[in-house]
Amino acid sequence: MFHKILVANRGEIAVRIIRTCREMGIDTVAVFSTADRDSLHAQFATEAYCIGGPASKDSYLNMQAIMTVALETGCEAIHPGYGMLAENPYFADMVNQVGLKFIGPSGDTIRALGDKSNARLLMSEANVSVPPGSNGVLQDETQALAVAEQIGYPVLLKASAGGGGRGMRLVERSEDMVRLYYEAMLEAETAFGDNSLYIEKLIENPKHIEFQVLVDQAGNAIHLGDRDCSWQRRRQKVIEETPCPILSDEQRKSMGEAAIRAIKAVNYEGAGTVEFVLAEDGNFYFIEINTRIQVEHPITEMVTGIDIVREQIRIAQGGNLLLTQADVKINGHAFECRINAEKPSDNFRASPGVIDDFIMPGGRSVRIDSAIYPGCKISHHYDSMIVKVIVHGNRRSDAIRRMRRSLEETIINGIDTNIGLLYVSLFDQDMIRGSYNTSTLESHMDEILKYEKIFRISENQDFEIITGN
Ligand code: ADP
Ligand code: ADP
Ligand code: MG
Repeated sequence: MFHKILVANRGEIAVRIIRTCREMGIDTVAVFSTADRDSLHAQFATEAYCIGGPASKDSYLNMQAIMTVALETGCEAIHPGYGMLAENPYFADMVNQVGLKFIGPSGDTIRALGDKSNARLLMSEANVSVPPGSNGVLQDETQALAVAEQIGYPVLLKASAGGGGRGMRLVERSEDMVRLYYEAMLEAETAFGDNSLYIEKLIENPKHIEFQVLVDQAGNAIHLGDRDCSWQRRRQKVIEETPCPILSDEQRKSMGEAAIRAIKAVNYEGAGTVEFVLAEDGNFYFIEINTRIQVEHPITEMVTGIDIVREQIRIAQGGNLLLTQADVKINGHAFECRINAEKPSDNFRASPGVIDDFIMPGGRSVRIDSAIYPGCKISHHYDSMIVKVIVHGNRRSDAIRRMRRSLEETIINGIDTNIGLLYVSLFDQDMIRGSYNTSTLESHMDEILKYEKIFRISENQDFEIITGN
């Protein structure tokens, strides 16, 4: 059993992990940057150590500094959260090599899946369908043109090391290929230090549907149902819900089985997410596996009653899964809204600054995962996602109403946020019907921003508007 775990992250996810550790009676060690001296994760942990300057590369990405703290404080394991070092295979290897436990799969598994073009090949071998595309990474723009010609436009150029929606370009015509190829390469090099690209056929207007999986060290694997993460802007998730409102029982069953085939093919351990796109014709295709806890994991916790971080820790300690697939029961419906420090009406400009006021919603079946408080400073050095509002309802319509009233209650002053956009989104026709896809938010954006403005001026309250007519 672990007695002490280092949490190699910050913000809401570090707080989230520390909470479960406390409930399990496990001591925690937080690391923080000079910008995060007063942060909640540093306050909530049993011990906390400053490891460097505000830029992530000087602190939260400084593997040596984190390893030193872990070893000197007598930690037995490191939880990486999401982002930062969570999908860095060198870090996982380094942690395991010094005799600590990296809470997640092995470095080799992270490496194999983090190379997304390689993951495509592994999945094809495991009989999980992938979008038509290149076999492995592209050698040059000539090959990109040849592959696109063969599978047909439109295609997506994707960074093999990609994440967070970056390093991707939509190519609609061969004339644009060479320019976009170099653009994507440059963006991938800057963001990930790796410019390898691959090509996938664009699945038009798909739903993004993913399955939460758990795999123990003995190789037992279950999934905890699906999540619909199709309410996206720039290929980044904004609102997520579970279960997906439009999946048939049959589709859900075959996607769940594919997710298990996928994860069993790669010598997995711990919590992971198998992501698919679901085409309008009902076919679904694997896009990637995220080898970490996911931002939107709380909605799955709401409907299953399972603490996924607790399961991650139990599995890392060598514990077997306590549930079989048949034991997993999905109860009701859950939504998550990601509140970002940004100004939608000004092209979503990031909005760092000091939070003057923060009133968070509460009441029945509402969960807030956040690390902000009145007086805290939102730094431009880190992710703009500052609060997750998660609600549960017996029925989907109850959950939508509960989310609306939760956002009506939420007050964040001092910085700009996307609360208005989230609120208006919950009145969108396609959102209400559940028929939305990954393009819907962007195609309804003008209308949503129009009402978002009214929301800000009138300080909200009860207006029945429907966008997307
Ligand atoms: P999720 O499905 O959990 O939302 P995302 O892909 O949006 O997954 O990533 C979650 C977080 O991790 C975001 O803060 C994102 O910026 C960050 N992230 C994801 N992949 C990478 C990566 N390869 N490098 C750096 N940060 C990443
Ligand atoms: P990331 O690592 O940035 O999360 P993903 O491969 O998961 O990248 O893709 C991010 C988003 O881009 C998906 O949620 C989906 O909206 C869109 N996408 C990715 N691949 C395809 C595809 N082949 N066809 C259509 N949309 C796609
Ligand atoms: Mg993804």
